[in-house]
Amino acid sequence: MNTQPKTALIVSAHSADFVWRAGGAIALYAARGWDMHIVCLSFGERGESAKLWRQPGMEMTTVKQEREKEARKAAEILGARTIHFMDVGDYPMRVSDDVLFALADLYRELKPEFVLTHSLKDPYNFDHPMATHIAQEARIVAQAHGHDPEKPVIGAPPVFLFEPHQPEQCEWKPEVLLDISEVWQTKREAMESMAAQEHLWEYYTRVALQRGVQASRNSDLKIKYAEGYQRIFPQVTAQFS
Ligand SMILES: [Zn+2]
Repeated sequence: MNTQPKTALIVSAHSADFVWRAGGAIALYAARGWDMHIVCLSFGERGESAKLWRQPGMEMTTVKQEREKEARKAAEILGARTIHFMDVGDYPMRVSDDVLFALADLYRELKPEFVLTHSLKDPYNFDHPMATHIAQEARIVAQAHGHDPEKPVIGAPPVFLFEPHQPEQCEWKPEVLLDISEVWQTKREAMESMAAQEHLWEYYTRVALQRGVQASRNSDLKIKYAEGYQRIFPQVTAQFS
């Protein structure tokens, strides 16, 4: 019997994005015994660390260290197996081919069953769709037989896009509603560990409640908290259900 745990990969543009947008999925699957692996392309040091920058005398290295510490703490609370920091910079985010290939190598090493990342569009944030682009491009490189031919290629893990801050402007809509009620307290605890963005704790609690109501409305289940995801690729199945 194969006892190797199943794996999933989360590609986050900034160090906190995975907590707000996919923390429930990470905690849920970790609780089921999956190995959840997180990649943070940047620390969100320029664009998503306003509270730290308001402190007098703040420096870039300190901001990065603080954001890394917070993200590691959140990942630990959620039960993630690993968290990788690529430190490519943010606002603007630019990703070199070296980083792309490193991510492709990670795909081949982990063989994720599914991938979670940002929406395809976001007129408020150029780094988020950039992260999605890199997550997808690395996935396709990892599938290519001619790339690093001595290492086995990966299959076709489905990609799910987590909810952006303003879904309508991002042309994102929920196509999957994941019931995260049983791990809600864990997600909330992880959110509260992100001290630099305290203003988002209540916001994302409301989002989870709203999606929970919709999840109940679209099923015969009683669901209190949910996370919404959009699919990129068709669902492959032998039965409608
Ligand atoms: Zn972000």
